[in-house]
Amino acid sequence: MGAVGSVRGAFDRMVHLLLPPACHGCRSPLTPGQEQVCQQCRTLLRPGGHPRCSRCHAPRGTGVHPSRPCPECVHWPSELNRARWSYVLAPPADALVHGLKYDGWPELAGFMAHRMARLVPPLKLPEETRLVPVPTTPERERSRGYNQAHLLAWPLSRELGFPLLPGLARQGGGGTQVSLQRDERRANVEEAFRPVPGASTSLKDRVVLLVDDVLTTGATASAAARVLGAMGASHVTLLAFARTLDGSGAEGG
Ligand SMILES: [Zn+2]
Ligand SMILES: [Zn+2]
Repeated sequence: MGAVGSVRGAFDRMVHLLLPPACHGCRSPLTPGQEQVCQQCRTLLRPGGHPRCSRCHAPRGTGVHPSRPCPECVHWPSELNRARWSYVLAPPADALVHGLKYDGWPELAGFMAHRMARLVPPLKLPEETRLVPVPTTPERERSRGYNQAHLLAWPLSRELGFPLLPGLARQGGGGTQVSLQRDERRANVEEAFRPVPGASTSLKDRVVLLVDDVLTTGATASAAARVLGAMGASHVTLLAFARTLDGSGAEGG
């Protein structure tokens, strides 16, 4: 799969380079000066409504008392302190996520990371914060040639000035999360992560910004945050590009 996949990937990228540049959201031709995503798609990206849960930023119905537990994050472990995300996983955000993950358009990561970086200043994170990408399985990374969360974490690190620390590895199992229910997602990823040898020293008492492309139920981020907590991280915030909300799709974890 690896060799065939990379030949096919190289071929796709070559074709992509020969064609006039098209918007990654809607495939319409880009006008000169536009990069990656057309103006119309930019205006269609939906940040989600208010009021929101202070922990996971899910929109809550108006009139819901803030002290009532949020059904979206009440099951999260204490190690996952909060989550922030840029857009609802609906067109065109879903096309951007798909393009980054499956179609080999890593140049999109710059645009997506720039949007994610806007969420960070209000969090008032300390200078010693470390950026940790959520790893994918070694098989998937080999066949794609990259890990999409890592692609987002690089430009984020440059823009925010926080060092990138790939401190988590993914072990076997942990297959795709697409089409799994909440409980199945949790069981699927529970044992999915382990510390990269030596990384605990760099994470001890550090605040961590955990980077992923999509937040769905939080099962993946919860499993990753538990391991980060065991490695000594003092606080974990998940930062994702998009979040599934009711009826907005079900990709990622
Ligand atoms: Zn577009
Ligand atoms: Zn919540």
